[in-house]
Amino acid sequence: EAKKSGPGRYRFYSPTLDDGSDQQLAIERRLREALDNNELVLHYQPVVDLESGRPTGVEALLRLPVPGREPLLPHQFMPAAESAGLVGRLGEWVAREACRQHQAWIAAGLPSMSVAINVAPQQFRQRSFVSQLADSVRNCGMDPSCLQVELKESTVLEDVPDTIAALQELRALGISVALDDFGVGYSSIGLLSTLPIDKLKIDQSFVNRIGQDAKSQAITDTVLALGRSLHLQVVGEGIESEEVFDYLRDQGCDQAQGYFFSKPLSAEAFEHWYRDSYAPAASLH
Ligand code: C2E
Ligand code: MG
Ligand code: MG
Ligand code: MG
Repeated sequence: EAKKSGPGRYRFYSPTLDDGSDQQLAIERRLREALDNNELVLHYQPVVDLESGRPTGVEALLRLPVPGREPLLPHQFMPAAESAGLVGRLGEWVAREACRQHQAWIAAGLPSMSVAINVAPQQFRQRSFVSQLADSVRNCGMDPSCLQVELKESTVLEDVPDTIAALQELRALGISVALDDFGVGYSSIGLLSTLPIDKLKIDQSFVNRIGQDAKSQAITDTVLALGRSLHLQVVGEGIESEEVFDYLRDQGCDQAQGYFFSKPLSAEAFEHWYRDSYAPAASLH
């Protein structure tokens, strides 16, 4: 089957291909090409407020389109981006594009919602990171409080004093900060209380085992309690069933995202999803 698509594409996705370096090079080439030609794509997954049941924002998720097949997902191209030193360029593009899209939705009549972007450690550690983000926000006229940065626990733990300084700068600009995949890392409660952050996103490996595995449920409950005592919002990731949705809402979890609400969507599909599900009847034509 792979052979039919020709030698140029074969290298991208043959799961049996052993020559990893060849595949890495093909992906690296495609990444550079997509950056140069502005062919990267963001998909957007709705984030829903559990109390009201309404979307409060989206998370932007990067995709690498490849001619003739499904776009590549971050786990398929981020390793190549890292080894090729392209993470900074990708991150800059993501920030600019997410801000641009946020403003485009407002221009199209959608309410102002938050947009979250994922930031890799290599991007977060760049000296120019905060000022670049500030430029992206300012250049498109976006309300900075609508932008959220998602960092993994491991990213913030790398160099705590520098991290705290950068997070303070972000929040001084009005940009909010979430700890992503929370619970799988190693932050101590003491450290967590010193970090200027706004949100914890409970890792989906715990959330999607609620109702099946007592330990995962206990970890979820603990993160919710921690969030309450530190005055942080808590978001459940990877909600796939009504059972998990009900559980998180009943436990006072603030927000949630997952296939139960929607898969990540193209910008256009998100707009349709929003209008179909949530736009008040009066504003429909
Ligand atoms: P993440 O930030 O934790 O994003 C959530 C991931 O879970 C997304 O995968 C999303 O498609 C998936 N997901 C959402 N709901 C469900 C569900 O109900 N069930 C299941 N099984 N999965 C669900 P995706 O898009 O493949 O992204 C994976 C990771 O790649 C992200 O995890 C994030 O760490 C990273 N990533 C994505 N976009 C970017 C980016 O622009 N820059 C950087 N540096 N990293 C990115
Ligand atoms: Mg994320
Ligand atoms: Mg996550
Ligand atoms: Mg609440």
